[in-house]
Amino acid sequence: MLDNETKLIQRLFLVLAAVLIAGCAHGPRTAGLKQGGFTTVLIDPGHGGKDNGGTSGRRSAPFLREKDLTLDTAMRVRDILNHAGVRTVMTRDGDYFIELDDRVAMANRLGNGAILVSIHYNATGSSAPRGVQTFFWHANSHGLATRIQQNVVQSTGEYNNGVTRRRLRLTRNPQIPCVLCECAYLTNPAENAKAAQASYRQLIANGIANGILQEYRLGDQGIPSVPEIWAPLSKGSEKRE
Ligand SMILES: [Zn+2]
Repeated sequence: MLDNETKLIQRLFLVLAAVLIAGCAHGPRTAGLKQGGFTTVLIDPGHGGKDNGGTSGRRSAPFLREKDLTLDTAMRVRDILNHAGVRTVMTRDGDYFIELDDRVAMANRLGNGAILVSIHYNATGSSAPRGVQTFFWHANSHGLATRIQQNVVQSTGEYNNGVTRRRLRLTRNPQIPCVLCECAYLTNPAENAKAAQASYRQLIANGIANGILQEYRLGDQGIPSVPEIWAPLSKGSEKRE
């Protein structure tokens, strides 16, 4: 009788221990430390204040300024991420100007555990170019760029200009993973008309946020790796973005 009781207690103890060990492996210890290795997203609405960024052109209807669309889209991305429990910081939350180097400094102050996602809308001299394009420089930002690009294209059905490795101040200089997404062309009449609609900017924001959340959960799993390429810091005299 006693023997049986002892065995039962031993068995219960083993089951309890197994549950505790499993709990440690999959539960509290890994919570908040997802594969992407970040907990904070610095969202950067491009331009602002005296810097309109690109525009759709004075004769276009409606006339849109990049700085307004980037702020609106960034706030939508922020809301989705916050709802999903991811901490966010905005480089700006109103219509004021911040130097690119100050945006880089904000990223570097956040440091380890943060990523930077810069949001832009494209403009050019011709009405033909269209679509979405995401830029990165560092090898540790390729997965994030790929996921954002794929998700914005999927969410909006926009033309896919792909992921491009380009040394910009906001892709080269921050010491944290960083990407820059050009969401649509304001100089393309069809895309300008779509960008004017809040519902369409929500689709863009959904895509950006989904890409970030995928990277948060999975890290670079399934993304082809690229070699790191050293380059000097990007200077203001070299690039406009
Ligand atoms: Zn821009």
